[in-house]
Amino acid sequence: MWLLDSGASAHFTNNFNTFVEYQPYVKPHHSQTANCLASVLGKNSVLICFNENIVQLSPMIYMPICTFQLVSLGTLLKNNCLYVQSTKGYIHIIDDCTKHNVISFHTHGDSTMYWVRAPPVHDITNANINMIAIDYKLLHHQLRHSSKNVFSAVHKHVKDYPSMTILPVEPICPGCQLGKQPNRPFVVNESHTMKPFELIHLDLKFFETKSYHRSRYIIIIYDDYTFMGWIKPL
Ligand SMILES: [Zn+2]
Repeated sequence: MWLLDSGASAHFTNNFNTFVEYQPYVKPHHSQTANCLASVLGKNSVLICFNENIVQLSPMIYMPICTFQLVSLGTLLKNNCLYVQSTKGYIHIIDDCTKHNVISFHTHGDSTMYWVRAPPVHDITNANINMIAIDYKLLHHQLRHSSKNVFSAVHKHVKDYPSMTILPVEPICPGCQLGKQPNRPFVVNESHTMKPFELIHLDLKFFETKSYHRSRYIIIIYDDYTFMGWIKPL
């Protein structure tokens, strides 16, 4: 159950299990509520499902003592594609590009509180439903770290693929950086040799095609003391 809040600075949840991505704060932050100063422990993204739409709520703040789960109207409308429409007893959030109803909040009787019942979604890779208002970073993480080129081509091949802002500069993803590293970084070594050829580094490289001088291999010799290197075809 989510309560629409026009005054909240961000979305808030008291349920840690709703997060698809979570980043704990190094030190707990504090947020002023109506009657106390509450600690917030981390933030990131939550996906909820409403009428076969998946909607991303981000940034979602984790506040364990929060009484209700809050959807911030202001944060939703920061997404330029979305606008508000209302009918009797309902507030609808509409996608301006597709005119699709992204999510609707409703009220009961004379109450001025608007609610929606929308379960959390944890895996979108097999979801046969519309993904709306989801950003590049979240899709990148959920769809096995696909590149920006994949996302820019996918519209041509997948029907009803969600409209999404492709960032002009691809943000550096720590997971991709680590994944593309062939080796662990070398540890710093302060020791050094005292005379030439006390320690040499060798590498032997094989070529599929013979060189002009009919060599198949190349040997690289590097002297640790003088920093001199030699390359010799074999
Ligand atoms: Zn990545």
